[in-house]
Amino acid sequence: MGTNRKPSPEERLQQWIKPELFEASAYYVPDADGLIKLDAMENPFILPDELREKIREVISDAEINRYPDPNACNLKKSLREVMDIPEDMAIILGNGSDELIQIIALAVAHSGKTILAPQPGFVMYKIIADTVGARFIGVDLNCDDFSLDSEAMLSAIDQYQPAVVFLAYPNNPTGNLFDENTISEIVNVAPGLVVLDEAYSAFSEKSFMQRIEEFDNLLVMRTLSKSGLAGLRLGILVGPALWLNQLDKIRLPYNINTLSQKLAELILSQYEILQQQAEIICANRSTLFKQLQEIDGVSPWKSSANFILFKTTNTSADIISAALIEQGILIKNVSGNFPALKDCLRVTVGTEDENEAFVVALKLAISS
Ligand SMILES: *Cc1c(COP(=O)(O)O)cnc(C)c1O
Repeated sequence: MGTNRKPSPEERLQQWIKPELFEASAYYVPDADGLIKLDAMENPFILPDELREKIREVISDAEINRYPDPNACNLKKSLREVMDIPEDMAIILGNGSDELIQIIALAVAHSGKTILAPQPGFVMYKIIADTVGARFIGVDLNCDDFSLDSEAMLSAIDQYQPAVVFLAYPNNPTGNLFDENTISEIVNVAPGLVVLDEAYSAFSEKSFMQRIEEFDNLLVMRTLSKSGLAGLRLGILVGPALWLNQLDKIRLPYNINTLSQKLAELILSQYEILQQQAEIICANRSTLFKQLQEIDGVSPWKSSANFILFKTTNTSADIISAALIEQGILIKNVSGNFPALKDCLRVTVGTEDENEAFVVALKLAISS
């Protein structure tokens, strides 16, 4: 007979929550109220009035008493067009690409299996690996330019036999594109899936979308978040039906809500608006990069994404970050995330005015 003593709330929690969750940490989102928000790689521009008027119409006509189209057929058609998705490749949509990472992890990287990614990298790969009980292995990038250490990657793949390798292309938070040939080599030697996470494809000239069929274990993932539709939560996974048919069983029915489907379809029908905004962001990125280069005590890395990583060489990143917040500007302090990022900060490229305000505030933070 066990004792009849009622467990304390704390004891009950310890007994039933799976142990790996106690070790895991949640994704932290800081309060941005009243601040110029340059921390999350959002597109700073709003849509033109005419399109906003059509958005109002679509919302008022939406049949929200009905479940959404479970397969989001019309939206997938629009995506095929604007993203030039190869005809014979299948598509799965996620509630953001974060959900797609989770679907992949649940499908192949369950307990005892390994998820591998280079680091510094996108933190959700590890957060999701932890929550599904998979082992996460991070392989250090070369520390000067954050390129892939191909020898280290190939030997880690050989040693750990990962179920999935995630490669962000361009990489977050470093902003660089990995070498194309090294990526091909990794896909060729990987025993399981390789997911090329092209979250920033709108700002970079390179993509593996047209090369998926050269391999039988490569998936390409995209998102509309960084190019202007972060609030709709739409991630796109592209790859051979052989794999995607199985992954799709993990996806919850109706994961893409009616408003996201209808609004994305409408906005994608005028995709050139988002493309023009991306062009402006890329131009602003060049200006901002030059301005950062000219500041004493700041050393930026070249970026193929809509953000710039920089190191502060005279003042600690923690002090800079706090001083920026005091001046009403929120960027991301990534200093504590990985040893290689000591005193590094990541700033999203914003509008000209936002970037200007940031540069002024940064100079002040560094000189005082
Ligand atoms: C932002 C980001 C994502 C997640 O985007 P969603 O908003 O969930 O679509 C995925 N991968 C990388 C590398 C990112 O930077």
